[in-house]
Amino acid sequence: MKEPRPKIEILPITVANQIAAGEVVERPAAVIKELMENSLDAGATRIEVEFQQGGKTYIGIEDNGYGMSLEEARMALQRHATSKLKKAEDLLALSTFGFRGEALPSIASVSEFSLSTKIDEAPEGWEILVNAGQILKEQPCGKPVGTRIEVRHLFHPVPARRKFLKSDNTEAAKIIELVRLYALAYPSIGFSLKEKSRLIFKAPANQSLRERFECIYTKGLAPDMLDLPVFEQEGISLYGLIGRPGLSRSSREELSTLVNKRPITSRLLNQSIIEAYRSFIPPGRYPIVFLFLEIHPASIDVNVHPTKQEVRFKDEAQIRRIVFSCLQKRLEEALERSSFRTTSVSPSRTGPFPLPAHSSLPKEGPCAPEPFSIHQNPKGSQFQDIEVPPYQPPAFSTQAATHSGSRSLQKESPLPPLPAKKIDKETAVAPKPLIDWRFLFHWESPYSLFSTPKGLVLVDKRRVYARIAYEKAYQEASCTKPSSQMLTHLHPLELSPSAQARLEDCLPFLEAQGFSFQKEREYYALKAIPSYFDPSKAITFIKDFLGKLHEEFCPPQENQEAYLRTLSTEYAQSLSLSPLNEAEPAMLALMQELFQTSQPHLCPQNRPSYIELSLSEIQQRFFS
Ligand code: ADP
Ligand code: MG
Repeated sequence: MKEPRPKIEILPITVANQIAAGEVVERPAAVIKELMENSLDAGATRIEVEFQQGGKTYIGIEDNGYGMSLEEARMALQRHATSKLKKAEDLLALSTFGFRGEALPSIASVSEFSLSTKIDEAPEGWEILVNAGQILKEQPCGKPVGTRIEVRHLFHPVPARRKFLKSDNTEAAKIIELVRLYALAYPSIGFSLKEKSRLIFKAPANQSLRERFECIYTKGLAPDMLDLPVFEQEGISLYGLIGRPGLSRSSREELSTLVNKRPITSRLLNQSIIEAYRSFIPPGRYPIVFLFLEIHPASIDVNVHPTKQEVRFKDEAQIRRIVFSCLQKRLEEALERSSFRTTSVSPSRTGPFPLPAHSSLPKEGPCAPEPFSIHQNPKGSQFQDIEVPPYQPPAFSTQAATHSGSRSLQKESPLPPLPAKKIDKETAVAPKPLIDWRFLFHWESPYSLFSTPKGLVLVDKRRVYARIAYEKAYQEASCTKPSSQMLTHLHPLELSPSAQARLEDCLPFLEAQGFSFQKEREYYALKAIPSYFDPSKAITFIKDFLGKLHEEFCPPQENQEAYLRTLSTEYAQSLSLSPLNEAEPAMLALMQELFQTSQPHLCPQNRPSYIELSLSEIQQRFFS
C-alpha cells in the first residue's frame, strides 16, 4: 500500500522561527553577539552583559540605547521586522550590524525570553514576556531609557540542540572572548561582563585602544603587543595591536580579525597575516594579532553566512597586498628599533633573521622585542629560557622495553585502559644493543646523522623524543600514581578563557600524567610536573599543548590516545635541541632508548622518526 501523499502546508510561525534559530543562534555566545550588536545599532554608550552556566541558563544584556516603543517592541519580535533595511539594495551600503530581522524572534522562540525597553518620549517602559515563541504577557515597567533583554534556559523547547553545546567552561570562554572583542572594537563605549556575580571586566567609556586592551586582557600580554597605528591605502584602513616579533603561539586561535568592527574569520586575512609574520616568528607557529580593517560596505559582502561570521571581499588581491605590506612594515620597524637599541647587528631587509626550527630564539640580537627586551620582561615570554641540561637517558628507559606498567594498570586506572594493540610488538624492532653505531654529527636542526653497519641513518630528534615521551606518557596514563616532581614555586598561568576552559576539561588527564595545578582566584598555577619534564619548559609546554587542543578534540576521556599523541609531540617541541649538549654517548643512549619503544620508526603522529639509507642502496645509486 502506498503512503498517502503528504499535503503542503505553511509552517507555523514558531516552528519557522525555531528552525531559523538553528542558523542564527547556534550557541549562547551567538545570542550574546546578536543582542550586543542590536545594542550597538541602537546607539548605546554603555552595554552590560551577564551570564550563568556558560549562558545556558541565563543571559542578560542591558543597554542605554534609544529603546523601542511598545508597538516597535511587539514588531521586533516578529520575523523580518527590522528598522535597518528597507529594500534589498540597502544591503550594499549597510552600516549597521543587523538587517535580517531574525535575531529576536529566533532567540525568543527557543528560550524563556523577556524584553523590557523604554524610549525617551514615553513616560514608562514596557516589558514583554515570551516563552518558546508564545507571548505570555505585556506589562508597563519602570526603567531608564534603553533596552534590557533576558534569555533563560536557552534551547529548552528544542532539547536536541542542547546536545551540541560544549561544557559550561567552554561556552563561558566563548562568551568572554566574544565580548572582549566587541569591547576592544568599541573603546569609546563602556562595557561590563559578569559571570553570575563575578565581574570579569568593567571598562569605562572613552578609552583608547591600548587602555581598553590593558583593561580587559591578561596583564602579561600588553607589553608584548605593538601598536599598529591607522594605516590608510586605497580606501582601506587598518589598525590594531599586533604581537612583537618573536611572540608566537602554537595555534591560530589568538588571531583576531575584525572587518568594520565585526569579528570575522577569513582565510584570506589569516593567510595574509601569517605570511607577513613569516620571517618574524618560528615556522609552524602563529602570531597574536588584533587587526581591524575598515572598508566601504559596498566592497564586501557580509550576507554570505547567517551569523555574518564570514565576509567576502570584492578585491581579494588588494586586501592581501595591503594587509601583508602594512604588517610587515610595522614588524620590520619594530625589529630595527629594538636592534638599534640592544645590538649593533642590523637585520637585513630581506630576511630579518634566520630562525632555528623551534622557538628557541637567541636571547640577544635582532629579534629582541620592542619596546621591552626579553631581559626586561622575564615573564610571559616563551623565549626566556633557552638551554636544556645535557641529555641524560631518562629514568624510564628500562621500563619502556617491557611495558610492564600498562599491564599492571588495568586494575585501578583512573582512566580507561588503552587499546592493547598499541603495546603489542608486531611492528617493533627487537631491543638489541646498537652495535657499531656511530654518531656522526648534528646536521640542520632537528636532524642528526649516524653511521651503522648497514649504512646511514638520518634521525629527526624531535620525533625521537616524541616517540619516547609517548610511550612514557602512555604508561603514566595507565598507572595509578604518576611520577611527579614539585616545582620550587607556583607558576601562575595567565591563559585565554578558552585555553583555561580546555585546561579545566583535561585536568584529570594532565594530573594522571603527573602535572598538578592549584587554582588561585581566576587563574591556575602550575605546582608539579612529570618527573621527566624540564621545569624551565613546563609553562611553554602547557600553553602550547592547550593551544593545540582544537575545538574538534573530544573530551580526553573519549579519545585519550589523541591527547597522549599531542602531549608527547608538544613535549618534544618544547625541548631545545642544543648540539653542544648532545655528544656521542648521549645520542647513542637516545637511539638505544628509541629502539626499546614499540614503534621506533614512527613518531606519535605516525610519521617517520628516522630515514635509513643502506649501503647497498647507496652503491646501487652510484652504479646505476
Ligand atoms: P535586525 O537587527 O536584523 O534588525 P533583530 O531581530 O535583531 O533584527 O532586531 C529587530 C529590530 O528590533 C531591530 O531592527 C531594532 O529596530 C529593534 N531592536 C532590537 N534590539 C534593540 C535594542 N537593544 N535597542 C533598540 N532597538 C532594538
Ligand atoms: Mg539584530
